[in-house]
Amino acid sequence: MSASIVSRPCLAAAAASRARLVSRAARASTASSSSNDKLHARAHPIQVRGLAQIARAKKGGFMAEMEEAKAEESGAKVEFTLPLAIQKYPHASLRNDNKIVGVFDSDLEKLAQAMFKIMYDTEGVGLAAPQVGVNYRMMVYNEAGEPGRGKEVVLVNPKIVKFSKTKDLFEEGCLSFPKIYADVERPTSVQVEAQNLRGKKFKMTLDGFEARVFQHEYDHLDGVLFHDRMTDEVRGTVQGELDALIEAHPANEPKGV
Ligand SMILES: [Zn+2]
Repeated sequence: MSASIVSRPCLAAAAASRARLVSRAARASTASSSSNDKLHARAHPIQVRGLAQIARAKKGGFMAEMEEAKAEESGAKVEFTLPLAIQKYPHASLRNDNKIVGVFDSDLEKLAQAMFKIMYDTEGVGLAAPQVGVNYRMMVYNEAGEPGRGKEVVLVNPKIVKFSKTKDLFEEGCLSFPKIYADVERPTSVQVEAQNLRGKKFKMTLDGFEARVFQHEYDHLDGVLFHDRMTDEVRGTVQGELDALIEAHPANEPKGV
């Protein structure tokens, strides 16, 4: 969210976007596997990298279980330095592996508070830890995008246990991709399991804009970025801006891409 729309997400989306969400849901596309096929056909190395991340995310269940078991043994504690800074594409932290959080202490709470602050300061509605260079499986969001309004949600080690078959298109933005907005197709509803800041496990079902914000941030935890999920046609409309970001931050380009 740094995927976001009106109030840019990392997910900057806002009221106008919500209206579009509703209208687009009406003509909801049956999302096909064709977008992934098209991604495969595309040889651009950065997109190929994104594809690999998506493939890993798809078989993620088992791997995530293994990583979780490992983390429970090792008790991975978050490490970060303040103040946080939003990392822009193509910074390597956006494609790195993200560790399962195993220690639920006051530092984790401090990280969540710092993430909310920088999210509000940059007019986002959601933020994933790798976007601030902290490679752990944690995200924060507030659909309202303003402190004191809406509901602040912190999800640690989230997992998607079920997707709706219904999908829709929505214009997303991302705090790691300044001023780039484009349509991305996603399921309209997801069932999620996660832990809170004290490590307590819980389940919830998300719909509408909240489901959109959550899925954008969740992708960040798997190293998947929103342009990885755009169709070739849509990505073509922002390719020049993506290339400009790479040119503007050449030192950030991850090795092996
Ligand atoms: Zn984002």
